[in-house]
Amino acid sequence: MSKIIGIDLGTTNSCVAVLEGHSVQIIPNSIGGRTTPSVVGFTEKGDRLMGQIAKRQSITNAANTVYAVKRLMGRRYDSAEIQKIRSYLTYKTAPSENGDVRISIRGKEYSPPEISAMLLQYYKNMAEEFLNEEVSEAVITVPAYFDDSQRQATKDAGRIAGLEVRRIINEPTAAALAYGLDKKDRERVAIFDLGGGTFDISLLEINNGVFEVIATCGDSFLGGEDFDQCIIDWMISEFKSDTGIDIGTDILARQRLKETAEKTKCELSMARESQINLPFIAADANGPRHFEKKLTRDRLEELVKELIERTTFFCVKALKDAKLTPADISKVILVGGQTRMPAVQRHVEKIFGKKPSLEVNPDEVVAVGAALQGGVLQGELKEIVLLDVLPLSLGVETQGGLFTRVIDHNSTIPLKKTTTFTTVSDNQTVVEIHVLQGEREVAQFNRSLAKFDLVGIAPAPRGAPQIDVSFDMDANGILSVSAKDKLSGKEQAIKVTPSTGLSKEEIDRMILDAKQFAEMDKSAREAAELKNQIRGQMAAVARSYADFGWLLDSSEQEMVKNAIQNAKNLPPEEDSISILKDSLTQLEGCTSKLAAAMFSAPDSQDLRAESWSTEERGEANVEQLLKSALDDVKSK
Ligand code: AMP
Repeated sequence: MSKIIGIDLGTTNSCVAVLEGHSVQIIPNSIGGRTTPSVVGFTEKGDRLMGQIAKRQSITNAANTVYAVKRLMGRRYDSAEIQKIRSYLTYKTAPSENGDVRISIRGKEYSPPEISAMLLQYYKNMAEEFLNEEVSEAVITVPAYFDDSQRQATKDAGRIAGLEVRRIINEPTAAALAYGLDKKDRERVAIFDLGGGTFDISLLEINNGVFEVIATCGDSFLGGEDFDQCIIDWMISEFKSDTGIDIGTDILARQRLKETAEKTKCELSMARESQINLPFIAADANGPRHFEKKLTRDRLEELVKELIERTTFFCVKALKDAKLTPADISKVILVGGQTRMPAVQRHVEKIFGKKPSLEVNPDEVVAVGAALQGGVLQGELKEIVLLDVLPLSLGVETQGGLFTRVIDHNSTIPLKKTTTFTTVSDNQTVVEIHVLQGEREVAQFNRSLAKFDLVGIAPAPRGAPQIDVSFDMDANGILSVSAKDKLSGKEQAIKVTPSTGLSKEEIDRMILDAKQFAEMDKSAREAAELKNQIRGQMAAVARSYADFGWLLDSSEQEMVKNAIQNAKNLPPEEDSISILKDSLTQLEGCTSKLAAAMFSAPDSQDLRAESWSTEERGEANVEQLLKSALDDVKSK
């Protein structure tokens, strides 16, 4: 049975882990990193660059490099959140026909789940290489405060990437799992999770393998990216007041500002001040202009004060929902890279009245928890019970555009609940069921998840029919709704596909595209492996030829020289498998020829060897070939 991997699909960085035996391994990326930037770059040639490589080229390819796609998942283009960040993003976004966000890159439109799927596919490959086996199943984490549309979008991304998403689990719950696995005593903990794009606070009770979420609250649009933006705004305004130039409108400058802002922010978690140098950031009549300024930790803390303070409201609300006081919480665990900022840690201490615990690695703990959940689903770990909660209330629209709750937020999931509704007019035979999620009393301010009609209701005076509306939420936090007219027995059920989601046809098309890309990726890998083999063979043949080439007849010598020269002449970007295979076959032919000649060589031919090494060696230019072949191997 293949392994179920755990993926923390982060806004800024992602982390992949797997349970092996009784311990969780973090799966490194191709350059050995334990976390990987959630970045996809699209080159002019149509290639896709992923992770660190994509991040590195983002300055020179800003418009075609997608980052922070998690912020766009399951959201409508006209939502306040998207409007807020749209002008900051260095890549283009546009509305789709049904109002979702689309990302336009090099004349092609992508949905956010499609871009997330590219990342997931990359992580899947990483895991396959690490485990040396195929990986087809995963547990993916999402912020606890993600609504149904955002969870569906994440699940869609997994499907497009060719992964069966066995479970979507909440990031703080995953972190609690990793933290509390070997804890035997009953404890109440708070998980304070401030990542790249989202903030979650979850209160849990951990008791000898039972993990019960008591309350969760948060803001799915508050994270490190917003902290970076405060620094970017500061740099833009400082530069403008010094030079009169607005660098905020220049896409290239913006990408440089973004990278510098994040670097400076992280540096200021350790140092008290940081020198920012951005040479040639703009130019005017006086020539090139540079940004050179110091940012102190104190100034940074002023810039982001409002963001940090926003977390208070959610923590207080979660405590109130759970009917707990800060004194009831025995430990506060920090999750997410942004919690490394000292001001965030001080703020947490202020809210909960105790120093937060630093005993888990905030960058990896979520992926570790996801891998543990994978282990539970696979039957490798038995002793865990996970009781999560619904982050936002579910209900339907009722007369007058009101929102009537069917299930309250913080109810434990999985769950099923039925509420009875009725008609508003006499002899009404159809009712529209409009399913929504949120905490507002007026339906239009909540997230519309789905609409469907229940038809064939038995004619009756208004208020008489009894229509049972049932909500069924699975352990992934994903919803099915059914409605039944008790009198006629007519029933209508739907699996909720959010109004902002992808249609089945779109997903099917994307799965095909992704598979095609997987084929292309496979052939790119095969080409890279062939090139490696060619380099190795080339060096080996050149070396043997230098020593034993004199044993070959002149046509064979010509053959060897040609084979080496052909291999050397291959352009580095050559990706034709057949050309590469031909070159390798030629070299392998030479190796056999040289080996056969060596074995059949009579000892008495030593003299010939002498003369070969002085004359024919030179004539055949073997030294030079050997040197360049070896240099080539060393430099690759
Ligand atoms: P995550 O989603 O957990 O990977 O968190 C990523 C966010 O944490 C990004 O916004 C990072 O810039 C931020 N981050 C990472 N390390 C630090 C640090 N040392 N100080 C402040 N923020 C950090």
